[in-house]
Amino acid sequence: MKTFCGRANPTTGSMEWLEGDEDYDYHQEIARSRYADMLHDKDRNTKYYQGIRAAVCRVKERGEKAIVLDIGTGTGLLSMMAASAGADFCYAIEVFKPMANAAVKIVEKNGFHDKIKVINKHSTEVTVGPDGDMQCRANILVTELFDTELIGEGALPTYEHAHKYLVQEGCEAVPHRATVYVQLVESKRMWSWNKLFPVHVKAEDGEKIIVSPSEMENCPGVPSVCDIQLNQMPSSDFTILSDVVTMFSVDFSKPVRSASTYYRVQLEPVKSGKAQIVLSWWDIDMDPSGTINCTMAPYWVKSTSAFQWRDHWMQCVYFLPNEESVLQGEKVDLTACRDEYSLWYKLQKARGEEESKADVRVESPVCRCQAHLLWNRPRFGELNDQNRTRQYIKSLMKVLKTDSVCLCISDGSLLPVLAHYLGAKQVFTLENSSVSCSVMEKISVLVGEPFFTTSLLPWHNLYFWYARTAVASHLTSNVTILPQSASLHMMIVEFQDLWRIRSPCGICEGFDVRTMDDMIQVRRLKSFSTTLGKTNSLNFRESREAEPHPLWEYPCKSLSDPQEVLTFDFRKTVPQHCVSSKGSVNLLRKGKSHGAVLWMEYHLTADISVSTGLMEISNEKGNCEWNPHCKQAVYFFSSVIESEVLSDLPSAVTYAMNFDTKTGEITMDFKLLILSGI
Ligand code: SAH
Repeated sequence: MKTFCGRANPTTGSMEWLEGDEDYDYHQEIARSRYADMLHDKDRNTKYYQGIRAAVCRVKERGEKAIVLDIGTGTGLLSMMAASAGADFCYAIEVFKPMANAAVKIVEKNGFHDKIKVINKHSTEVTVGPDGDMQCRANILVTELFDTELIGEGALPTYEHAHKYLVQEGCEAVPHRATVYVQLVESKRMWSWNKLFPVHVKAEDGEKIIVSPSEMENCPGVPSVCDIQLNQMPSSDFTILSDVVTMFSVDFSKPVRSASTYYRVQLEPVKSGKAQIVLSWWDIDMDPSGTINCTMAPYWVKSTSAFQWRDHWMQCVYFLPNEESVLQGEKVDLTACRDEYSLWYKLQKARGEEESKADVRVESPVCRCQAHLLWNRPRFGELNDQNRTRQYIKSLMKVLKTDSVCLCISDGSLLPVLAHYLGAKQVFTLENSSVSCSVMEKISVLVGEPFFTTSLLPWHNLYFWYARTAVASHLTSNVTILPQSASLHMMIVEFQDLWRIRSPCGICEGFDVRTMDDMIQVRRLKSFSTTLGKTNSLNFRESREAEPHPLWEYPCKSLSDPQEVLTFDFRKTVPQHCVSSKGSVNLLRKGKSHGAVLWMEYHLTADISVSTGLMEISNEKGNCEWNPHCKQAVYFFSSVIESEVLSDLPSAVTYAMNFDTKTGEITMDFKLLILSGI
């Protein structure tokens, strides 16, 4: 089957058609998904294995046959563990066809095909009986259906159904239980991801303040989970207001109810402050006694030194609908409400039993002000970044005159308001990436952050350049463009952990899962783009591409100096020819060259620039500080091992960058160069 899918090119804005054969899309999805990361999660894997062994033992001790139901088998890993642990038979259910196919191969390769039956169905479609998918109900229920919020992937309805139809009463479950923990904090940094703070503008005619309307102030925001690598949040960025408390737990060996409900705990603040955020994480006990425990607790809670890095399970940040002042020792009620798939929180003054029972229904947060639909959380953070705003104000003050007719091209930007406050004669704005210009007067100042909601990779914001080119006829001959130019920067890094997500899975807990690695390698995209309805280019993009990651969450150290690799002059229109460059960077520090990080810097005026990437290299070890609001592009090298082996030798990385102005694509090629020194 061929599938065509139309989309606007994020950089050029033109319509293009992507053709993908069935396999391609799935491989892409698998490659980008968290399967590899899960297989690298040693802590998770060993604990599942222990828990599964213990469950099989308990069943055998009762003199029963061990019949396992593994819902969401993925690679088949947990079923293979069960079979190795002595289970008599495993039903491995997987809804996602390409994964079910992979599971069949992996199970076969590891010699378990007579013990494990892979069923490509959603668990709620599975039938039991002599002619059914399963001969009989299982007495061991193994699953790993959890996301960072625990229930976001539908674990509750899946368990509810399984207990009703697929497993025996009194079955063993691995994990046996999950517990959700919460802690109340005050954090200006995290609060800035959900509310717009006042922006102070010192204009010639006095100070002006941009404040958000009350509708926005009181808006509860969006219900989607905010999951982050909380371990990268320095303790100076939040104030703890309560102890860690258990919010609720779920026993997976008993019937589970997925219907909406709520849980309430009483907290006694350990400090007075503004309660804004509920931090939350969970742990799972693999056995009933709780001796095999796998926890997502952040660094300040967890005492053990054995720390497992993982990206498939992180921690949650919940925003209270409004900030509430709390006093040390003065009790408050924290309510967690949940539906089948998500959780949200509410804080109230502690009240009597009867009183608090009265209003238990809390509506799931729905954005009423539109701002939370326009701006995602990092974008809120970016708009609230006062240093950044100051740079824009400074540069606008330089370029704006009283007769300036200003056009702003950026999505959901405050620049038009700033330009207005700073005295522009007229301000127009183009929103939502649609360059349809019906401006009466000639534009003398064209501004952009630039920021577009369609941008995934840093250079996608070069859309500004294309928009600027499209509106060229509306600009005065001496137009000022802000930013006047942009540059793409690159640096070679060693990641502390992020490298894992793209490293081969190989052998996992003794099972050969290399089939996964083969699948991930096959990432090809055939794409052709059409401009003005005509197919004008046909290209075959190779598998290796840069991918976006917010690097403040993923520590790395620089192995090279940052290098400017491409420049884009917005004062001119987009050229017809490609923009390319070649060069090399020396590796200055010992380390594993995992990849190159790329980011954009915008030169607002000749002397004012903002970086969307590297902020500083904070010490001689090369630890980097990244812009906390932006994702940077990461290009993983395929030959990490080589550079490790040769890390003692002085070496360099050569690069070739090409910006195809027709397609808006940046392709890159890197080679590790070993200088033989002696
Ligand atoms: N068990 C594997 C993979 C876990 S990922 C491991 O531990 O390594 C979860 C998998 O469950 C995904 O592949 C997803 O497609 C599948 N899944 C989730 N809910 C399911 C359901 N109700 N029925 C069948 N498969 C499900």
